[in-house]
Amino acid sequence: MIEASCHCGGVRYTVDAAPTTALDCNCSHCRLYGSLWAYYPQRDVKFTATPDTFVYQWGDRMLDMHHCRTCGCFSHFTITGEDDAEKIGLNIRLMRGLTPETVSVVQKNNGNDHVFWTKSDRPVLPGHDQPAQS
Ligand SMILES: [Zn+2]
Repeated sequence: MIEASCHCGGVRYTVDAAPTTALDCNCSHCRLYGSLWAYYPQRDVKFTATPDTFVYQWGDRMLDMHHCRTCGCFSHFTITGEDDAEKIGLNIRLMRGLTPETVSVVQKNNGNDHVFWTKSDRPVLPGHDQPAQS
């Protein structure tokens, strides 16, 4: 089991399985936070209390980006309007005890500039505003 917490403890959850990959998104929001993402079925994420977050939206407003109301950590995101969505994005930097050696970074170009602060031995994935490479 993996325990996760924001800096102040206002957002806490557990998941049974550690992620094996980390998605590095270089969109204009994620790259400011350095967040690294793993997707889970929402039912597999056990919040220990209702997360005290504020939601930020931008662009097409398809995602609710949750930040701890106290410490500001960018903790998770959900699909707007789907409180019980199948998929939730978790910022794995909140996962205590998880070490980088166990996680493979996958970079996704959502920022048009192909700039990433991580290193990866995998090809960069095209983003939502990038045509797929053939
Ligand atoms: Zn916090």
